[in-house]
Amino acid sequence: TPAGQCPCDNGEICTADDIRVLLSININDAAELDAVDPATAAGIGLMRSEFAVSSVADAANEEKQLAVYHRVLKWAADRPVTIRMLDIGGDKPLTGLDDPPAAADLRGVRLLLARPEIARVQARALLRAAVYGNLRVMLPMVTFPSEVDEMRRLFHEEAARLTSRGISHLVPPIGMMVEVPIAALMLDTFETADFFSFGTNDLTQYLTASARDRAGSQMYLHPAAPAVLRFLKGAMRLATQVGKPVSICGSIASDPQRLPGLLAIGLRHFSVAPEQLRAIRSAIVGLRADGTKAVGD
Ligand code: PEP
Ligand code: MG
Repeated sequence: TPAGQCPCDNGEICTADDIRVLLSININDAAELDAVDPATAAGIGLMRSEFAVSSVADAANEEKQLAVYHRVLKWAADRPVTIRMLDIGGDKPLTGLDDPPAAADLRGVRLLLARPEIARVQARALLRAAVYGNLRVMLPMVTFPSEVDEMRRLFHEEAARLTSRGISHLVPPIGMMVEVPIAALMLDTFETADFFSFGTNDLTQYLTASARDRAGSQMYLHPAAPAVLRFLKGAMRLATQVGKPVSICGSIASDPQRLPGLLAIGLRHFSVAPEQLRAIRSAIVGLRADGTKAVGD
């Protein structure tokens, strides 16, 4: 198949040798969607909810969160929408809530489980939103399988509460970011997660002992790429062993230069910044699924 002649639609793209690849988008804010035609994406691979929920008041406001999630699901129609639960703490403090800032290691799902009153509000908003589309919930900074289990239990408790109040809801699939190195090394033990998504921004900082929010750490990113790829290759093998859907949403996936390596280790679902959709699409159709170039050279 010549490059650019892909027969797939709905954001599905084929490599030059006709292997299907999904291309989704990462968003921070629902308003970003106004500029994106839903037909150009397979769905939303990562919505960073900490941008919609940016204050203590938002974190406590179930109705406001529901309205934002509903808007995003409506945009996507029946395409999958992956909303990540609040990844606060670390490089993403929530003023007021995370004040004084939590220890750098108390972030993501760890902070949510330590402050379940925040997680419960978000869980209820997500459970209610799930009836409006194809929602998937993603947990940030998961380190151990027990964290997935605890959060799933919390969702079921809140679902029971909604049932007793007669409020319609659905329990969505619950998956996880793979962005803490030991979680990636033990990925085959995460049997209770419904799906995986590689977060190479955090993986890279933890693998290189650098800090992603420090300007100087940029100098580690480029030389680290081959090591990160090797690391992902091992994690991919474990993910395949347990048969879970896998995607990648770290910014490495938005870099056309990195695409051959990511295809070669078997990744078939990329979630990228909306402004990179076009570049990544054209890079995919010019490559074979093993990452080799189909035309030119
Ligand atoms: C990542 O860590 O790669 C990621 C996608 O999440 P964030 O950049 O929001 O930490
Ligand atoms: Mg991250």
